[in-house]
Amino acid sequence: MNTSPPLPLSQDQDATDARFMAEALALAEQAAQLGEVPVGAVVVRDGQVIGRGFNHPIASHDPSAHAEIMALRDAARGVGNYRLPGSTLYVTLEPCAMCAGAIFHARVGRVVYGAPEPKTGAAGSVVNLFSELRLNHHASIQGGVLAQECGERVRRFFSEKRQAMAWKRKGRGPTIAISLARQELRLLDPTGQEIARWPVSTALNGPGEASGSCCTPRGQHIIRAKIGAGMPLNTVFVGRRPTGEIYSPELGAAEPQRDWILTRILWLSGTQPGFNRLGSCDSMRRYIYIHGTPDAVFQNQPLSHGCVRMRNQDLVELFERVPVYTRVDITET
Ligand SMILES: [Zn+2]
Repeated sequence: MNTSPPLPLSQDQDATDARFMAEALALAEQAAQLGEVPVGAVVVRDGQVIGRGFNHPIASHDPSAHAEIMALRDAARGVGNYRLPGSTLYVTLEPCAMCAGAIFHARVGRVVYGAPEPKTGAAGSVVNLFSELRLNHHASIQGGVLAQECGERVRRFFSEKRQAMAWKRKGRGPTIAISLARQELRLLDPTGQEIARWPVSTALNGPGEASGSCCTPRGQHIIRAKIGAGMPLNTVFVGRRPTGEIYSPELGAAEPQRDWILTRILWLSGTQPGFNRLGSCDSMRRYIYIHGTPDAVFQNQPLSHGCVRMRNQDLVELFERVPVYTRVDITET
């Protein structure tokens, strides 16, 4: 029997709000891992999370892929109704005007956000659509839940990005050079001196940039996202997310044909429009990674479906030494 006195209703509500905001903050981390501004959201009804979303307009080529919209879509699909009366939407950052509009259309009852957004916030920072009486529908709004954590996550993201860009501009960062002919990856210091060299396995189908070719793209790339920091060796990834499994020979034997993505992912983006960026030859949209592969079956020869495969320990060493936006040159020779 629970003998502790019941919490006053407001305290109870505060604890509930903090708990769901923490879930939204965990989703924001998934955005950060993709190199997107870290914002997360959950939709809650009757004490249950019914929708989850995180911000990823760049990766999805979708200007409306804000955390709130993604969470509303997820919830509406789940319950089979585009209207979500009686629900509460938790989002780590103050909603923008677009998201406020979607929230009203969905008839969300209450919105709780973390940090204010001084440039685009539509709940008081720039405009307040939530108090706009000429609009037909409203949601109650409350800010400041885990504001410090939510705001700090966004500030850290931008400070890391600024630092990486400045580093790159000043030519201070390392460069990765991959040779398809030699099946090797070299890490170079800013003066072009070799720091380290590891064997790799690139595409069985050889060099090529076209979508669906299963070839390894050539030319200048950057690392657009680093995924898997701190995860154990042989962590299994599907769709750039850890499945919770650790690769073992038994797991491998069960699916001998599978293209395992293990340990870490360095997601590459081409920088040469028309050659390896945009259109039908976009390395990022082709999900070209430098990734770990089962050590027992790794061979230093072209065998992959387009990605650059490495031994797991080698990849971890590389991963620790290259920031996001590091230049990656892939050549045939
Ligand atoms: Zn928005």
